[in-house]
Amino acid sequence: MEKISNCASKANRTVNQIKLVVVTKNQPAEKIIEVIEAGALYLGENYPEETIEKWKQIGNCCDESIQIHLIGHLQSRKIPMILNRFDVFHALDSVRLAEKINARIIQEEIKPLKIFLQFNVSGENEKFGWLAEDENKWPNLTADFERIIAMKGLQLEGLMTMPPFVNASEENRKYFDRLRRLREFFVLRYPEIHLPELSMGTSQDYQSAITEGATFLRIGTLIMGSRNSLD
Ligand SMILES: *Cc1c(COP(=O)(O)O)cnc(C)c1O
Repeated sequence: MEKISNCASKANRTVNQIKLVVVTKNQPAEKIIEVIEAGALYLGENYPEETIEKWKQIGNCCDESIQIHLIGHLQSRKIPMILNRFDVFHALDSVRLAEKINARIIQEEIKPLKIFLQFNVSGENEKFGWLAEDENKWPNLTADFERIIAMKGLQLEGLMTMPPFVNASEENRKYFDRLRRLREFFVLRYPEIHLPELSMGTSQDYQSAITEGATFLRIGTLIMGSRNSLD
């Protein structure tokens, strides 16, 4: 938090505009308890089964106010696993998935799920999210956007991106800048919508993400150490 705070002041921002999601995927329950004791409030996970399994072990040890955020791509057959367990979903990446989540929430009469729309602002082939590399094509994104904001079971919070793997934080700054401007594009077009958040920046590039306006950072290895997996 001290590092985040220093970056924030360099960017003339205050640290309370920035929330830290500690990414605990592929990390054991003991380490998660440790990081909660150290003050983590938001935990990021990628795999619903793994998360449910670990939280059986973590159980009641922890404060109710700890939030679990699903930060990675979701397969629609796993929707039932995430409802009522995850507080926020950072990686909504298609209208089809949105429709399925929404239908389930309406049917079960549960509270709306907070979501982020994931955009691929770098144009990398293997990345999830709506392709938004070319600004001239942003108007093409509005049809899907309008369908999603009309869904009563989803509460849109902001935009999310996962840029390329790089060695220096600065290399991804242009992509964070692009996501920030994409948010502005939507806000100008739909002044009535609520779209306050930008989920961007990981261990490798959180500094640039802060400079460009991130409100949620998703940091794993830098805090938790390495994982036994490639993602
Ligand atoms: C794993 C993951 C992170 C964290 O990456 P680190 O390099 O460990 O900080 C952030 N966002 C998403 C979507 C991830 O899958």
